[in-house]
Formats: sequence, C-alpha cells, structure tokens
Amino acid sequence: MRPVSLPGLVRDQLRPFAPRPTLGGVTDRVCENCAMPDEELVLVRRVYVTPEAWDSPEATARTVEETELWCVSCMSQYPHVLADGSDED
Ligand SMILES: [Zn+2]
Repeated sequence: MRPVSLPGLVRDQLRPFAPRPTLGGVTDRVCENCAMPDEELVLVRRVYVTPEAWDSPEATARTVEETELWCVSCMSQYPHVLADGSDED
C-alpha cells in the first residue's frame, strides 16, 4: 500500500494559528513582527534578552524604544513589554 500524501493537511498543521474567517472582508492590519493579518494587534516594545555567559553571569534584557504592533501569537513567543499602560520595571 502506497503512502498517501496530504500536503493540505500538513500545511495546516504547521501553521500555529489558522486564519479565522472575518466578517466584512479581510483586515488590512498585519502584525509588524510576523506580518500575519490580525485584528487584535497590541502595541508593544520588543525586549532583547541576552542570556547569561561566562563573563556576564546574569542575563540582561534591553527594551527598545520603538513600538510595534504584535499579534497574540508573537506576544506568546517573544519577550516584550506593553507599550501603553504602566511600565513594569
Ligand atoms: Zn505576529
């Protein structure tokens, strides 16, 4: 029996979030990090984390000043702080 290729299924499984059907057409808002169209974008500042090393025993994090609009997926995967609201320091 020959193995059956299902490229459509594989492609869907590789996507972390399948695009939702939206009412009233496609949104033109896209995540500035992954370019995925999403209506629920949040203004954040990216945080660059430097892991600990032999000459710097403590990990450090640097927050960039420029704000970006991120989708929920990116917010769950990459370090960041919310651009609006209280600063957590
Ligand atoms: Zn994103």
